[in-house]
Amino acid sequence: LYGRKPFISGNWKLNPQTKEEALTLASGIASSINENSPDVDVALFVPYVFIETAISAVGGKLAVGAEGVCPHNSGAFTGGISTSMVKSIGVNWVLAGHSERREIFGETNDYINAQCLKIIDDGMSVMLCIGESLDEFELDLAGSVCEVQLKKGLMGIRKEELDRVAIAYEPIWAIGTGKVATPEIAQSVHAKCRAILADMYDQEAADEVRILYGGSVTPESVDDLMNQPDIDGALVGGASLDKDKFGRIINFKT
Ligand code: PEP
Repeated sequence: LYGRKPFISGNWKLNPQTKEEALTLASGIASSINENSPDVDVALFVPYVFIETAISAVGGKLAVGAEGVCPHNSGAFTGGISTSMVKSIGVNWVLAGHSERREIFGETNDYINAQCLKIIDDGMSVMLCIGESLDEFELDLAGSVCEVQLKKGLMGIRKEELDRVAIAYEPIWAIGTGKVATPEIAQSVHAKCRAILADMYDQEAADEVRILYGGSVTPESVDDLMNQPDIDGALVGGASLDKDKFGRIINFKT
């Protein structure tokens, strides 16, 4: 990891369905962090309505983030949630560019870039998700897709702001499918992403950015993934809804 602190994060998506369940899940996950846990940053990206509940449940043991933000300041954007709003309730980390936002909600690289800039300008940290579809993977385009998404997503973000940026490489064909990328495939794309960051900034900057893997990470797959030199953490969907599974992922072994 070359000094990069591991980062395990969960993405609850459109789950759970009640405040009570959110409270129980968040506190269960927090209780899996103990004095024997690795030295790891942990964040949970949760639906807006559960953010304050989750923050009160985790007692400062982990960060609670937002699954996205509207890139506008204020005004006539019905349904939008601004960076100021989430910041005012204790959010530091915000997700951007998740493939579900790109595919289902039609978010473009330009829109995602606007979100990233707004999050950084407002003093928070962004986790930018990138990754190729199955077709693109089979055409050997993973590196090219990641290059476009990284360069467009991070446009205008300065080198000195990169300490508030994390990248999540999430091959779409591995998200929610149970098909985890092999550690070797993930490692090779992570290394490409780091080379792209070195090209955009410089090698020193690239060596400091954490690149997380996402796509069907489970207790069974996390250790081998975390043993790869360019895999600095995980972004976990399904398994972050189970306190025991996510607890084991947080307590990964290398
Ligand atoms: C995700 O949505 O970011 C994700 C990686 O989901 P899953 O772990 O369920 O594949």
